[in-house]
Amino acid sequence: MFKLFSNDPVHDPIKKQGPATEIKKTTCYMCACRCGIRAHLRDGELVYIDGNPEHPLNQGVICAKGASGIMKQKSPARITQPLLRKAGSNRGDGEFEPISWDRAFEILTKRLSHIRATDPKKFALFTGRDQMQALTGLFARQFGTPNYAAHGGFCSVNMAAGMIYTIGGSFWEFGGPDLERAKLFVMIGTAEDHHSNPMKIALSKFKRAGGRFISINPVRTGYSAIADEWVPIKPGTDGALFMALMHELIRLEKYDAPFLKRFSNSSQLVCMDSGAEEGLFLYDPDSDPINLDLPHNKYIWDEKTQSAQPCFKQGTSPVLLGEYTMGPGPHQGKRVVPAFELLKRQVSETTPEWASGITSIPAERIRKLALEIADTAFGQEFELPISWTDSWGEKHNTVTGRPVAFHAMRGLSAHSNGFQTTRGLAVLMSLLGTIDRPGGFRHKAPYPRQVPPNAKPPSSENDIKPNTPLAKPPLGWPTQPEDLALDSQGSPLRIDKAYSWEYPLAAHGLMHNVITNAVKGDPYSIDTLMIFMANMSWNSTMNTMEVREHLNAKNADGEFKIPFLVVCDAFQSEMVDFADLVLPDTTYLERHDVMSMLDRPISEFDGPVDSVRIPVLEPLGECKPFQEVLIELASRLKFPAFTTPEGERKFKDYPDFITRFQTAPDSGIGFLTGWRGKDGEKVLKGEPNPNQWQKYAENNCVHQYHMPPEHQYMRNWNKGYLDFSKENALRQKNDPIMIAIYSDILQRFRLAATGKRPGAQPPEHLKARIYKYFDPLPFWYPPLEDEVTDLTKFTLNAITQRPMAMYHSWDSQNAWLRQIHSHNYLYVNTATALQHGIADGAWMWIESQWGKVKCMARHSEAVDPGTVWTWNAIGKAESAWSLTDNADESKKGFLLNHLISEELPLGGFTVSNSDPITGQAGWYDVRVRLAPAGNEETQETWPQVKAYEVPGMPLKKETSK
Ligand code: SF4
Repeated sequence: MFKLFSNDPVHDPIKKQGPATEIKKTTCYMCACRCGIRAHLRDGELVYIDGNPEHPLNQGVICAKGASGIMKQKSPARITQPLLRKAGSNRGDGEFEPISWDRAFEILTKRLSHIRATDPKKFALFTGRDQMQALTGLFARQFGTPNYAAHGGFCSVNMAAGMIYTIGGSFWEFGGPDLERAKLFVMIGTAEDHHSNPMKIALSKFKRAGGRFISINPVRTGYSAIADEWVPIKPGTDGALFMALMHELIRLEKYDAPFLKRFSNSSQLVCMDSGAEEGLFLYDPDSDPINLDLPHNKYIWDEKTQSAQPCFKQGTSPVLLGEYTMGPGPHQGKRVVPAFELLKRQVSETTPEWASGITSIPAERIRKLALEIADTAFGQEFELPISWTDSWGEKHNTVTGRPVAFHAMRGLSAHSNGFQTTRGLAVLMSLLGTIDRPGGFRHKAPYPRQVPPNAKPPSSENDIKPNTPLAKPPLGWPTQPEDLALDSQGSPLRIDKAYSWEYPLAAHGLMHNVITNAVKGDPYSIDTLMIFMANMSWNSTMNTMEVREHLNAKNADGEFKIPFLVVCDAFQSEMVDFADLVLPDTTYLERHDVMSMLDRPISEFDGPVDSVRIPVLEPLGECKPFQEVLIELASRLKFPAFTTPEGERKFKDYPDFITRFQTAPDSGIGFLTGWRGKDGEKVLKGEPNPNQWQKYAENNCVHQYHMPPEHQYMRNWNKGYLDFSKENALRQKNDPIMIAIYSDILQRFRLAATGKRPGAQPPEHLKARIYKYFDPLPFWYPPLEDEVTDLTKFTLNAITQRPMAMYHSWDSQNAWLRQIHSHNYLYVNTATALQHGIADGAWMWIESQWGKVKCMARHSEAVDPGTVWTWNAIGKAESAWSLTDNADESKKGFLLNHLISEELPLGGFTVSNSDPITGQAGWYDVRVRLAPAGNEETQETWPQVKAYEVPGMPLKKETSK
């Protein structure tokens, strides 16, 4: 058992130890990859963690982080009791008194019930890298507040939204490269995190089988270390590369025309006439007036009859190119073109030479890359003997393989041009015909979903009512201006302005602007901000120093501008100091948890997979899982989904909630898919099973469902799979999911900006912005920050990556992992460093127009000369995370966040430093300059910030030195 307040060493490597007496299985959470692990216990004490060889995701592989979970458990930074800020103290001073959970719940219930009964949007719940968004989202919806999101808006919403608005699926959890059958793998904008162990396993097999691996990245680290070729690229220019590759493929006529005609909207006819239909697909008004978005309501141009015909009519021969005039009928005389013709025009000027000047990749290399991917996709095409039937009833005896696979993550995403860049990649993959085909990109359940999924955010103040759940989920997927979260005056309904005209498709919210907006009262003030597992006063925020001031900002009457701040965390992060109320969370080894099909499961290509965490240890001190906090609050606040009609509490605790909750009465759909039905005999769908947790415990904490081969490919249009997905509530409908080469959804917003479309229109000052960025076809534009930066002074790009051995800020209190990284350097190409007079290992300054930081330099050949980079979140405030006052993390480690602004003054008004379509934070857009530090300057990082130890931390600081 863990000893509280002990001065004993936490780890004695030479002490003679007996063997483990018990092994318990659960799921790792040292990063977000969710590998299966085995916790080895000796007389109840955790002594060793290894990978679970029977787990489908990691097959026994474990990384440095996963194996070091034991030291997270023994961290001196654990918070062990609820804390209330002392009356009269300032936020940030760490002045707390311990209180009981009863008192904490009393405070919260009183405050939250008043907000819920008066103005529910005054409560905001934002969460960091948690894995329970189905529960937190349900809590927010039941509360009735639209002010909810997880960290996606500052992580990878561009990757999710750019892909989902194009192909109905995305990378990582919801899809990925089929390296088992690929011959060429192009990884772009990916460090070594995200799908870490599975990616390493797959890469190892791929390389051994002779596959060729090209890494395109400004930095050669992590996976790129084993790439056959590294192609350095300037940050924020990947979209230009994709445009040039598409230019080449179309110029050389190396694209999969039959695939595009049948499975995308490439051949569908777009109206070219000016007016309300301009740039939109024409619809057959007689086919299905209920839902004009259905693909079969559109037209194609038939080569045989030289006339417009309904999509998918038997015997037609659709064209991809040309310009036509509609014949007799409801659209007579209108000029139309197939969407592909517009794509061809869009890329006509985006030559390799054009892209070379932007990306810094030689034009010849781009041309060669285009040929290489085309030759592999089409020259090494193969067929798998798997029969399947498409959505239109046609039987296919084989599935065609196109063995070019791509993988991309935050390097594409974390830019203010990332949505259109990601659209560019998705369209490029579609030209090659590699969507859900062997050797290319493959979906993972519950994806593919509709383009985009059906959920819509609240779109009027009528959707938000006191003491009432929200009429719609807080997060969704707009398809037209009328879906935006605006009140009747056109003001944002959400505190982060997600789904406003500033960021219309903000599918994951904008957590990075919540504090600044709330303090400015723009668009309104809030009362209570609850933050879970997010270090918003430090490494999870831009403009760190000012945001710390915001957290402490007061009105003239002496009240805080954010009146009540609740922080739930397991560790003494920099954010904890600013809380009014601290709720001590458990570690992942002390709680139940689900990786649910309703949320972010761990599905494989061949079918749905979900998994759980089951506690292997008792919670330390008074720690309580945040899940239990939410269930308790939901019960006390009497949310309808958590209360019986008689007003009684419905669920005893979180495990009980997971077992018995159903998405609708008797739907048979719950958080977990395994062992459903009264006796556990059903899968995916069935009545709640009281023994469901036990069955997961007996089965490696995983439930895996293998679909038959005929359901494993071409799932956007695979009738068998689509019927299966509808039956099991993975989708609402079983209609085909057409790839959106051309996005008429984006065009609807663009038309609104021109005033040609009836209905909602953007305010005057945002019309040009909407018109520019809502191009229905992918395009490249420079990151927004370039517009307000003197590029002659700030010539270098600066980016961060996660190290392989640490995840966000989570691990600087981990005694083992600190031995790998106790501080970070700024990596600078050797030639660039020498030009600036900066020696290897020397102290230096890095400066943007927003701020500057003193740090140490490391010369490197593995970085593009125009880019500098560092590991993120290694730098810490002094004494934070229970580190000693002179720990490397605070004296040598640094944050790049100080150089990045959360807002940009653009065109006479201020907007978030984010993608103008999705609100994705532009973390990687900042421009910097370098200078050596003077000999007289102190040899420690700057700025310096102090954090404070809080009551109830288990070990004295000396042990963490
Ligand atoms: S990759 Fe992530 S989930 Fe897997 S063992 Fe490592 S830290 Fe744990």
